[in-house]
Amino acid sequence: MKKPDPPREEKRKMDAPGAPAPASNFIKDIINTDRERGKNDGRVATRFPPEPNGYLHIGHAKSICLNFGIAAEYHGTCNLRLDDTNPVTEEVEYVESIKDNIKWLGFDWEDRLYYASDYFEKFYQFAVDLIKMGKAYVCSLSEEEIKKYRGNFYQPGQASPDRNRSVEENLDLFARMRAGEFPDGAHVLRAKIDLESSNMNLRDPIMYRIKKARHHRTGDRWCIYPMYDFAHCLSDSVEGITHSICTLEFEDHRPLYDWFLDELKVPSHPQQIEFARLNLSYTVMSKRKLLELVEKGIVRGWDDPRIPTISGLRRRGYTPESIREFCERIGVAKAEGIVDVALLEHCVRQDLENRTPRVMVVLNPLRVVVDNLPAGQVEEFDAPYHPTDPGFGSRKVPFSRVIYIEKDDFREDPPPKWFRLSPGREVRLRYACIIKCVKVLKDEKTGEVKELHCTWDPATRGGDTPDGRKIKGTLHWVSADHSLPAEVRLYDRLFHQPNPLEGEEGADFTKTLNPDSLKILISCRIEPSLGKAAPENRYQFERLGYFCVDPDSTPGHLLVFNRTVSLRDSWAKIEKSQEK
Ligand code: ATP
Ligand code: MG
Repeated sequence: MKKPDPPREEKRKMDAPGAPAPASNFIKDIINTDRERGKNDGRVATRFPPEPNGYLHIGHAKSICLNFGIAAEYHGTCNLRLDDTNPVTEEVEYVESIKDNIKWLGFDWEDRLYYASDYFEKFYQFAVDLIKMGKAYVCSLSEEEIKKYRGNFYQPGQASPDRNRSVEENLDLFARMRAGEFPDGAHVLRAKIDLESSNMNLRDPIMYRIKKARHHRTGDRWCIYPMYDFAHCLSDSVEGITHSICTLEFEDHRPLYDWFLDELKVPSHPQQIEFARLNLSYTVMSKRKLLELVEKGIVRGWDDPRIPTISGLRRRGYTPESIREFCERIGVAKAEGIVDVALLEHCVRQDLENRTPRVMVVLNPLRVVVDNLPAGQVEEFDAPYHPTDPGFGSRKVPFSRVIYIEKDDFREDPPPKWFRLSPGREVRLRYACIIKCVKVLKDEKTGEVKELHCTWDPATRGGDTPDGRKIKGTLHWVSADHSLPAEVRLYDRLFHQPNPLEGEEGADFTKTLNPDSLKILISCRIEPSLGKAAPENRYQFERLGYFCVDPDSTPGHLLVFNRTVSLRDSWAKIEKSQEK
């Protein structure tokens, strides 16, 4: 019944003919020029280097698509490298989730899974080399003193009293730092570069610090750990990366990246290229902020469907194809901006439109008794799973004396242009027939509508009117006896503000949380054909949006559905208005 997602290979083949070639961008321009000049013998090697200190988010997806995409386009390679140089924040759970997410997105690092921690011994030797060259020294100032000595944009830095330690003394101290003789913070190893540089990163940056912490892979073997700037360029070089693609905040670090690679005898000198990170409206992206939401219990976990982690988007019902399409459409640029989340929603809607069967589910049931259908009599109507693609097949939907429609689809006092149900009016039940409302039963105390009585017109089987009378409204519905209970979770934006981080630095970003970002409906009724649905199956619920089965479901007992996205496409509207 449900069309399975095509396997990745097949999907690629389907995409290939006629599909637009991936757009060019400034990174590809650089690579093309490099290849024309014969740099790296025309070879292209990229890497995706996450730090395993949280779950990946859609910003990472942009970087993954870019790095793996470029490698594929140039018949090169893309490594997955876990940049695990900070033992305090890193965990095996994160490593596993990262691998899982990348595979799910449809990318393959083949046998090239690396860890920066595998190079710790190499990094150490490189550091020793720099000391021997007189280009690195052990500094015993405290963290605050180092900061103070470093000066600022207007003031040149001041030399540390340890800057002129002898090579021998430096070698000895560095070896003893490694041996664990000193407590955290007692010494650091610094590169000896330029205290007057206008680039603060070059004012004798720290290369190593003492951290007596257990590492998730190297255990207690090390108590000194390399800093990102030192480890990253060397990891790239050791792996023979040709183009080291990263986000803009590393632009000012590039001179340092190049300095280490120029000073040391390294296997190769990769080129760092920076692009603007992805920001998305109405959400936060940084792992630190996401961790805060998870730890404070503001969301239910790293895979909460309201946050933009890959795991969250997956649970929400996003497809890998829709995320890849989104990343393709936003492109790569040098200027930062915030992408409208409506574009992401548009991409998933477009993808789901042609790959999901359409079914009927009532979220807020209102009981309707069909007076002229005797109890026990069941009419069956044929209903295709897709309006244009017969490949989806069809099912029979049962129609019996008691049915449910949405509470919202009935108004006792309808406004003008109300085509849904109201007293004395007719409406079409999707795939079934025309019914007319003849009586309204209300709660005496509250006045709330409790039950409707209708009659059906057997001459309208299938929904057509043989006498040609116009029926404008069509409702989705289910048979009370045949339908099954379900829980449905509706999501809204997690924040009220398009940019929740706007405003003062350090202000509490959780202040603009949307308290209604999750609505749980527990008395929904699903059509019987959905009884066999399994986690991650996706559907269009007619008139309500796209939904997928949540792993919280207990198949055969109670199914839980997440709404991926509603049917209203604000992005398509924006695009249309721009075409005009
Ligand atoms: P965050 O700032 O969200 O906590 P990070 O930069 O610390 O993320 P890393 O694990 O270091 O996360 O990132 C791995 C790679 O993903 C890096 O190359 C980084 O540049 C890239 N990346 C991270 N966030 C984004 C983003 N929002 N858009 C594009 N690329 C990103
Ligand atoms: Mg980082």
